[in-house]
Amino acid sequence: MTRRYAILRIDNIHSSDDIEPGCMGRLSQLMEVINQYNIPVLLGVTPHFGRLYSDQTSPPIREGFDYVKELLSEGHGIALHGVTHRCRVLPEDKHSIERSVPSCHEYRCRDYEERYGRPIPIDLQSEWLAEGNTLLGSLVGQETDVLMPPAHYYGPTTLEAMRRTGFRYIANYDRQKNRPHQENGIWVIGAHLEDYPRLASLSNTNAAVEIFRYFLGTSGDFIQLFLHTRYGADRIPNSSLDMIDIMLRDLNAEGREFILPLYIPNKVD
Ligand SMILES: [Zn+2]
Ligand SMILES: [Zn+2]
Repeated sequence: MTRRYAILRIDNIHSSDDIEPGCMGRLSQLMEVINQYNIPVLLGVTPHFGRLYSDQTSPPIREGFDYVKELLSEGHGIALHGVTHRCRVLPEDKHSIERSVPSCHEYRCRDYEERYGRPIPIDLQSEWLAEGNTLLGSLVGQETDVLMPPAHYYGPTTLEAMRRTGFRYIANYDRQKNRPHQENGIWVIGAHLEDYPRLASLSNTNAAVEIFRYFLGTSGDFIQLFLHTRYGADRIPNSSLDMIDIMLRDLNAEGREFILPLYIPNKVD
């Protein structure tokens, strides 16, 4: 029987309480459910979360990162989910194609491309990736070779910048090519499952369970699930926590093995 695998990732881990309060508290709510299953999680950390184009020189806020350090010592994995999760090449008011305000992209900006006729230069992206790892090193004592680009958005030059800075895996959102595959030496890991726990809090749990089971039924031997730390409220509602529990129970019942990106080269031929 072919083995089946899952990567479970959590996006937007930060301690920028001035921008979005209570993130680490919600992370611990998520981990309380997840840790009952004894599975590894990929923690997507954004050291300078929310920092604006005009303010990218302040030192990182360190509070809360001891908790992430503790999770890493328990065997969970770490990814860089951007340095700021914001556009770093244009101020907010210079965006007309990318309409999301505040901007949530970092490695690809279509307004920048339109204005300068080229993607964000490889040198600059390489600088950001190296900066991200330096920050992770100082905040949690560990660097990473996994990039989770903010807003699931990146360009071909991002892969080149990754190669130059020792990154090996990019965790991406891709409904079509969701089986891990190599693109010029970088493993691309696509996700095609949504954030159902957040959906459960926005609609209702039964509906979210139905959609999750439908998509799980159509998925192949490799899936990537993602959760966020941001919900409508300060604390994660029970409907979402119940949803995570139901999903993990289903995946366990299927015999899915939860892995981290570093195991992919051995698991996927
Ligand atoms: Zn931009
Ligand atoms: Zn994000």
